Amino acid sequence: MQALRELPAVHRLLDDPAIAPYEALVGRDALREAIESELRHARGTHVVPAYAELVARIGGRIGALAAQSLLPVINGTGIILHTNLGRAPLAREALDAAREIGSGYSNLEYDVLEGARGSRYARVTSLLREASGAEDALVVNNCAAAVLLILDTFAKGLEVIVSRNQLVEIGGGFRLPDVLERSGATLVEVGATNKVYLRDFERALSPKTALMMRSHPSNYSIEGFVNDVDAGELVALGARAGVPVVEDLGSGALVDLGEYGLPRERTVRDAVAAGVALVAFSGDKLLGGPQAGIVVGAAPAIARLRSNPLLRALRVDKLTLAALAETLRLYRSRESRERIPLYAMLGASPDSLRARAGAYVAKIASARIVESEAFVGGGALPKHGFPSIAVALPGASSQRIAARLRAGKPALVARIDERGVLIDLRTIAPEQDALAIAAVEDALR
Ligand SMILES: *Cc1c(COP(=O)(O)O)cnc(C)c1O
Repeated sequence: MQALRELPAVHRLLDDPAIAPYEALVGRDALREAIESELRHARGTHVVPAYAELVARIGGRIGALAAQSLLPVINGTGIILHTNLGRAPLAREALDAAREIGSGYSNLEYDVLEGARGSRYARVTSLLREASGAEDALVVNNCAAAVLLILDTFAKGLEVIVSRNQLVEIGGGFRLPDVLERSGATLVEVGATNKVYLRDFERALSPKTALMMRSHPSNYSIEGFVNDVDAGELVALGARAGVPVVEDLGSGALVDLGEYGLPRERTVRDAVAAGVALVAFSGDKLLGGPQAGIVVGAAPAIARLRSNPLLRALRVDKLTLAALAETLRLYRSRESRERIPLYAMLGASPDSLRARAGAYVAKIASARIVESEAFVGGGALPKHGFPSIAVALPGASSQRIAARLRAGKPALVARIDERGVLIDLRTIAPEQDALAIAAVEDALR
């Protein structure tokens, strides 16, 4: 047995080649803490393990730590809003606001001028009104919660008319018919899968009709022999019958993606302008902000949502509100909007991606620059890939290389096609390039 004074110094362990790489995984503070805990343990038990044994134990502690944590991943898939990888990365401004508000007290529900209780939602509401053209707005935990709140408020014990071509399941098992059932409403399906006419809605109206509901088909589309009813026609019918139209827009674009060479995706403003009473959408899809469910619409309808006791169970916290408000402020000009990572990624030119790919192939001998296709993801424009550039790692062992990339620190998630492992640069921030190159070099070693 060795003497306690033979225990290695913390800095020597921090720099040990078997331990130092964990810094990228768990951060320096956690690494130091793991080392110090192991040294304390040795001192406490008066048993000094051999150096290699000590290093192995520290590695074990860090492994356990890493398994408990959310870890950063480099997204080389080319799918910008990748639900499994956390959807929209946040803008620096949004993160700074969340950090500042989260690290102390705030005026979350306090009116500093009056010295009295204020509204949690007031500030973000005015930004949402500005961004959508709606009279009023409300924020809950996610879009699924927003839909649930709408149905619970307006349709409990009553009927909701939905077109058959919009009764879809989106990812994560969210099915409109199931949510309807949970909220105590009765679904009235109209039309055929491919063809729906206004008269189908008209015939289904009854004294028990609470709402007519539209839902974005997300990752699903019907082509060919089809007919649909547009929101304006439905709103006109609803006005005659005294039945509000509500819409689950899902992705919730605040701007026309045509600016980025993509097909026009219905925007929140379009739905509001068509007279839809309540429009629900996500905060972390095309808005590019934190996870949230946003409802915008007519003031009396939002007021009814606000008075539903269920809102208390769906309410968002201060970090979300701070990050959402800052994200919305960035929409005031195209230039500031591109500080939202989603829009920086959409706006990156193929030439700029190609130039960055050059840095990869300069360092990685086997790598090639290839043309690729990126996708928006998040249920928006599922069929529409748009031009991108990838770094390809050719070779017979694509599965093995991809697995090694995923096991790296940080993990890099890539795509595989007949050209090999593809790392799409569209979804990698330029600041991450050095890290991604090192991850590839490690995986190929
Ligand atoms: C994504 C999506 C939802 C769910 O949104 P969350 O914010 O993840 O709850 C609901 N409806 C549609 C149409 C969607 O695309």
